[in-house]
Amino acid sequence: MKKLINDPSAVVDEMIEGLVRSREGLAILAGQRVVVRDDIETLKGAGRVAIVSGGGSGHEPAHAGYVGEGMLTAAVCGDVFTSPSTDAVLAAIRAVTGPAGTLLIVKNYTGDRLNFGLAAEIARGEGLLVEMVVVADDMSIDASGDNAGRRGIAGTVLVHKVAGAAAAAGRTLAHVKREAERAIAAVGTMGVALSPCTVPAAGKPSFTLGEDEIELGLGIHGEAGVERVAWRPVDDLVALLLNRVLDGLDVREGQPVALLANNLGGTPAMEMDLVARAALKAADARGVRVERLWTGTFLTAIEMAGCSVSVLRLDDDLLSALDAPASAPPWPGKGVRPRVDLPLVEVPREAAGAPEPAAPNPAVVAAIRAAAERLVAEESRLTDLDRQVGDGDLGANLARGAEAVLAEIEGYRDRSPASVLRALSATMRRTVGGTSGALYAAGLLRAANTLEGRTAPSVKDWAEAFQGGAQAIAEIGDARQGDRTMLDALLPAAERLAGGADLSDAAGAAQAGAEATARIPPRRGRSSYLGSRVLGIPDPGAEAVAAWLDAVAGALRAHSGEA
Ligand code: ADP
Ligand code: MG
Repeated sequence: MKKLINDPSAVVDEMIEGLVRSREGLAILAGQRVVVRDDIETLKGAGRVAIVSGGGSGHEPAHAGYVGEGMLTAAVCGDVFTSPSTDAVLAAIRAVTGPAGTLLIVKNYTGDRLNFGLAAEIARGEGLLVEMVVVADDMSIDASGDNAGRRGIAGTVLVHKVAGAAAAAGRTLAHVKREAERAIAAVGTMGVALSPCTVPAAGKPSFTLGEDEIELGLGIHGEAGVERVAWRPVDDLVALLLNRVLDGLDVREGQPVALLANNLGGTPAMEMDLVARAALKAADARGVRVERLWTGTFLTAIEMAGCSVSVLRLDDDLLSALDAPASAPPWPGKGVRPRVDLPLVEVPREAAGAPEPAAPNPAVVAAIRAAAERLVAEESRLTDLDRQVGDGDLGANLARGAEAVLAEIEGYRDRSPASVLRALSATMRRTVGGTSGALYAAGLLRAANTLEGRTAPSVKDWAEAFQGGAQAIAEIGDARQGDRTMLDALLPAAERLAGGADLSDAAGAAQAGAEATARIPPRRGRSSYLGSRVLGIPDPGAEAVAAWLDAVAGALRAHSGEA
């Protein structure tokens, strides 16, 4: 187990401390694992109903994160995945309950029901006004089956929001409870896990999943789900989750709903946006009207990878309760009504530049084709090199550029060399990306400018263009020979060409230069962060240059042989 913790048994206390110190308006109930608003006395005096939730820890930001105006008055934090004690709940009730009373929002787990229920009973015996509601939104479980009923999961956060809004509006306990119950009846959730999670005190994951397996309808306490299935694309997976929830809630076409796309803790934000997209697509396919959407991390199972999708059937009152302001930072605020059409702004297209007619240039086209085909063929070798000394994208990036060039190469046939190089530059710029995309585009553009007006460049003209291109790369990349970059292949080749050597000779010099980079410590590009760890491996950018230059030399040899 590798976690950012000190002592597994201190995690909850230290988490509470960190939370309360880093937020305004929160306090710890002395001697308890209870987070409360620091203005509870004012709230009591103002006749506000208090909202208390909680349960086992490990679901952060639930529930302590939601303490704040418009949501919770207090949260009781148990050990990780363990219900808090009756006494802790009772302490919270005693601290926050004024004349208007307190509503307890409990997730449907036996331990939580018992401890919150018993605490409520004791508090009522002391004359306090306390009511309790239980959230059971997990649609993966059959509510009519012989079991402990549906579990309470991420839909609970929406119930906090609805009850919190009613309390903030100064409604009575009976009203607040009724609104919470209406939200509970209207909400359903289902989740999927891609990985288990590790309880700090246990030190080991709760279950294991094969490389290709996912767990549908998992519990948020690391308990395995109701069904283990094979991985599938996110669109299919989210449609499956959403459809089960919609069926479970009996949501009809045209029904307005709120959607909550929830990260179980270990899902990259990038993937959550795909989850949101998939949920909207699936809702759309059912003709359900998504009035509000939230995507983010609301109720987690520590670091579990996966997501849940919650649906709340809306009516006007529930919608305005969800829209009401809330100050707890994990609540993102008023949800958005997702756009039906993808908003697009058209980009003005680059003026194409009339392809000025010129003499056919079969040699130039043959050379470019050979270079591009070589880059495609070298993709995996270059990827492999870049993976070792960079980020692994070079092979794919150059191959993508090469494919784009091959797709348009016929259009190069009757254009002047300068215009062809300019077209190549634009294509590299558009398709390659990364450092190389910009560098190649700059080099090709400079080479094009060097050849401007020369419809039939001499060998010397080409040598000059090559040298100009290499220089442009050195300038824009702020690099020199010996910096372990593509320049270590380009510059020696440029020098040979300038000295009157033929292209095969120049390609040989590029190859020698590329091989020599294996002995040079990096000073430019991504490799420079790895220092001497890259020694022994040649620079991928230099290897790429040597490869395509060799292909160009071969193509021109073949071409002059034919001619
Ligand atoms: P990244 O992924 O870092 O954006 P690429 O994978 O597109 O970069 O290209 C990596 C190659 O770019 C390197 O192998 C090196 O040859 C070349 N390179 C990196 N930085 C420079 C620079 N400043 N000047 C010239 N070439 C460079
Ligand atoms: Mg790279």
